[in-house]
Amino acid sequence: MALDILDGPLLARRTTLGLGGKTLAEIRAASVADLDGLSDALARVGARPLALGGGSNILAADRELDLAVVSLARGGDPERAPGAAAGRVRVAVWGGLPLGRLEVWCRRRGLAGLSGMVGIPGTVGGAVAGNAGSYGRDMAGVLAGVWAWTPDAGVEFFGPDRFTAGYRRFSLVGVAGFFMIARVLLDFESAAEAAVREEAGLALKKKKAAQPIAAATAGCVFKNPEGQSAGRLLDLAGFRGRGLGGMEFSAMHANFLVNRGGGTSQAAFELIDAAREAVSSRFGHELELEVRVVS
Ligand SMILES: Cc1cc2nc3c(=O)[nH]c(=O)nc-3n(C[C@H](O)[C@H](O)[C@H](O)COP(=O)(O)OP(=O)(O)OC[C@H]3O[C@@H](n4cnc5c(N)ncnc54)[C@H](O)[C@@H]3O)c2cc1C
Repeated sequence: MALDILDGPLLARRTTLGLGGKTLAEIRAASVADLDGLSDALARVGARPLALGGGSNILAADRELDLAVVSLARGGDPERAPGAAAGRVRVAVWGGLPLGRLEVWCRRRGLAGLSGMVGIPGTVGGAVAGNAGSYGRDMAGVLAGVWAWTPDAGVEFFGPDRFTAGYRRFSLVGVAGFFMIARVLLDFESAAEAAVREEAGLALKKKKAAQPIAAATAGCVFKNPEGQSAGRLLDLAGFRGRGLGGMEFSAMHANFLVNRGGGTSQAAFELIDAAREAVSSRFGHELELEVRVVS
């Protein structure tokens, strides 16, 4: 197999917010070995690389973007791997697998760790890259290592001493720029299947009640400041339901920016700036973006 080099996608069609302009090319890998050709492919395209998973945490500008999208073919089944500690199960997973499929796979086998994250869209690679999480669970809680491609070294394994992760952040030690996570190694705790199912059911119920999960959003726009809820601060600052040109802070959960149809990145950026300014001047909190801006 070799890398596929495809026409550059319109990011509006590849992001859940439905925003973003045309890119120059898409380079798609179907296996870890494919990535051996990534340096050459990027040189041929001659554009900045953008790792793209499910596009569910991206706010992209609506203009032509000098970018080569690097993506992973969807699919692949999780595989059991050796080396787990007692009471745990180690699994190797292709980064292009949808996170929801992994969560279901684990739930059916009584593997705890992802159940609180039920309903998070996107891919396993994207979830690790942003350390996605909810209801007390995050990717870092199960992560034992990643196979990632970097321009300097190609694909290498980065074990626990070679990555750092925290609240919605992940980095590879010594890697400052682009990297592509191709495969990940995860350690799950063995639990009763019913308990795992119950945790997932409760998390999904809470999400459905509190978040506009079916709307065109990119999840939470801002990170929660230490000890605070960004959604509550936005609400108190009058941004719940505030809209501009097709974009709107959700009336259901103020930290979700929704594209109600016809929204633009310009409107999104203006709303974000206004919200940040209001929260800063009223409450002294400088809101940090959780969504990744691509421009
Ligand atoms: C309805 C909804 C609910 C959500 N709920 C949550 C939630 O509860 N918790 C939460 O944390 N997030 C949530 N999100 C945000 C989003 O789904 C997660 O951040 C998700 O893990 C992003 O994965 P992705 O594959 O879509 O990544 P993308 O959006 O494609 O990319 C996100 C970032 O990761 C990088 N990236 C993607 N793939 C790779 C890779 N293979 N290697 C290296 N870098 C990569 C991209 O360059 C980008 O910087 C929600 C989003 C929506 C739309």
